[in-house]
Amino acid sequence: MKLFQTAYMENKNVSVIGAGTMGNGIAHVFAQSGFKVNLIDVNTNQLEKAVQTIGKNMDRQIAKGGLTEVGKLEALNNLRTFTTIAEGVQNAGLVVEAATENEALKLKIFQQLDEHAPKESILASNTSSISITKIAAATKRPGMVIGMHFMNPVPVMKLVEIINGYATDQKVTDKIIALSKELGKIPCVVNDYPGFIANKILMPMINEAIYSLHEGIANVASIDTIMKLGMAHPMGPLQLADFIGLDVCLSILNVLYQGFGNPKYAACPLLVNMVMAGKLGVKSGEGFYVYTPGAKELIVSNRFK
Ligand code: NAD
Repeated sequence: MKLFQTAYMENKNVSVIGAGTMGNGIAHVFAQSGFKVNLIDVNTNQLEKAVQTIGKNMDRQIAKGGLTEVGKLEALNNLRTFTTIAEGVQNAGLVVEAATENEALKLKIFQQLDEHAPKESILASNTSSISITKIAAATKRPGMVIGMHFMNPVPVMKLVEIINGYATDQKVTDKIIALSKELGKIPCVVNDYPGFIANKILMPMINEAIYSLHEGIANVASIDTIMKLGMAHPMGPLQLADFIGLDVCLSILNVLYQGFGNPKYAACPLLVNMVMAGKLGVKSGEGFYVYTPGAKELIVSNRFK
């Protein structure tokens, strides 16, 4: 809260746009850190689900000794829900946008934010791959627009990748660095190029793992075990791809390929086929592995046995 005391006086109001996987996690960490959070989504079911998810995730923290019952109540009291940007961002010192990964949608949202949020508000996007410079150019305050890329699950993962757009003001970057630390996160600053750093490095690794499977060099279990045990990765690249969503991996690889014009980022045809077949990983129940509710063991998909 020091950030807002110095930078925005008493303004500790944060608006989060989108109450999906990331939005509920982002709202959770801000509310738990004492900020007043307005969570905004066009879908009321998503808002209800998000509040329930935040409560359940806080119960998990309580069980592990990371939060008290009182802390949970205080955090939930900090949370309000809205269905329109116009209502939800009126007092915001900071807006964090975590709506669906769609460029046209994000440009429209940022135009609305520019219109309705106070002129001194910082506008941040949690996008995984869309250009911050392009998003900023949709507003009349490009110096106040920045990338704030949280990792999933937000309450657990320490990293915030902070992305400076072409026009981002250094003072804004400094404020977001300080704020991320206040949330208990570890910020890393990067410049705005396709995939930023996290995905520019991660996605080619995942793509190479899929190529290795496609070329018959090794099977699913060998590829993931080699990377887990050999490189001390907590999860193999194929399992991680299933967790992220194969459609998301494909769309980020396409952003890298188009953005850099370099064939080394071209998506493996097996990944393209799997996405076309609707095998998207955890969210569709099958990718490189099969996922059944309640199952504890990781089972390789029949397609790859
Ligand atoms: P999601 O599909 O779970 O949630 C998106 C939410 O945005 C939905 O609830 C939808 O109703 C809402 N929405 C759509 N249009 C809206 C509008 N005009 N106003 C308000 N809300 C709107 O998506 P997600 O996985 O939470 O991803 C959100 C953002 O975070 C994306 O930009 C994504 O690239 C990024 N991201 C995702 C992950 C991840 O692992 N899922 C990790 C890092 C970053």
